[in-house]
Amino acid sequence: MGFFRKTLPIFLACLFVAFTLASCSSAKEQNHLKVWMEKNGKIKVLATTAIVEDIVKEIGGEYADTIALITGELNPHSYELVKGDSEKFLYADLIFANGLLLEHSPSMQYQLHKHKNVLFVGDEILKKVSSRIIYIDKEVDPHIWMDLSLWAEGVDLIVEKFSSYDPIHKSSYLANGLKVKERLEEADLALQEDLRAIPLEKRYLVTSHDAFNYFVRRYLAPKDEQSGAWRTRLEALQGLAPDDQISALSIQNIVKYVEEHNVHVIFPEANLSQDSLHKVQEACQSRGVKIVIPKETLFGDTLEEGQSHIEMLQHNAHLLETYLGQEEVSYGR
Ligand SMILES: [Zn+2]
Repeated sequence: MGFFRKTLPIFLACLFVAFTLASCSSAKEQNHLKVWMEKNGKIKVLATTAIVEDIVKEIGGEYADTIALITGELNPHSYELVKGDSEKFLYADLIFANGLLLEHSPSMQYQLHKHKNVLFVGDEILKKVSSRIIYIDKEVDPHIWMDLSLWAEGVDLIVEKFSSYDPIHKSSYLANGLKVKERLEEADLALQEDLRAIPLEKRYLVTSHDAFNYFVRRYLAPKDEQSGAWRTRLEALQGLAPDDQISALSIQNIVKYVEEHNVHVIFPEANLSQDSLHKVQEACQSRGVKIVIPKETLFGDTLEEGQSHIEMLQHNAHLLETYLGQEEVSYGR
């Protein structure tokens, strides 16, 4: 009883703080939405994800008010509309979606196909440079933002969309587009160089879900593996669209992969549960293989608050360099 008497006030205080924080953030969001909905002469733009928002915001510049629909740690693959979302679709003059069926829930697909002015960036990139799109078991991989040189193919398409909606400011969209392309190109080269520092025999990546195909092909695999051999450099517990259903077979496959490629680290992802990674760790341990799971996570589908898309990839590269590039692994859990 004494224990409960002591801990109950602390528990209630925590509950109060959590409730206040939740209502603050939701009030902040509501206010943000109200401001976005006010007419101010700017184009009202809705981006489906924070990553799409990042590039669209840069290109729309001063003439666009851009918000993202799926933010924080929400899973863009399975996201279903919630209260207030359909109003965003209604108020949006332009919508930018990742496409390639990333946003595949029925409610998202319904709204995206109902709106008269949507650009599915990935679908248009596919038409432009189809040979660079990756398929996994005949399914198109939507994670095109993980290769900055491929993502840069979307810049002209976004510029065109803004320009056809608002031709008066075309020169501004073009200028913004050029700056974005330069920035992407510069970051792309730097990432390639940074990751080259990891010895080739250690460039094997095991993650929570299949978000890193484009990243591995571009930044971890050497040039002579570009036509397909790069695929051996990664293994993920879950497929292209994570749903937390891990089979015993998936775990077995990862254990086999870990042994084959002398892997010592498996990387958690920010928005996904780590339970399955720990199951792999245990399975490896029982076979005498020590596996480290870093405390820091990789980012696949989401951004941390305040983080740009380029910063997210730089963070991933830094984490890989730190854990894959080491001789002896003596950190993590
Ligand atoms: Zn994903």
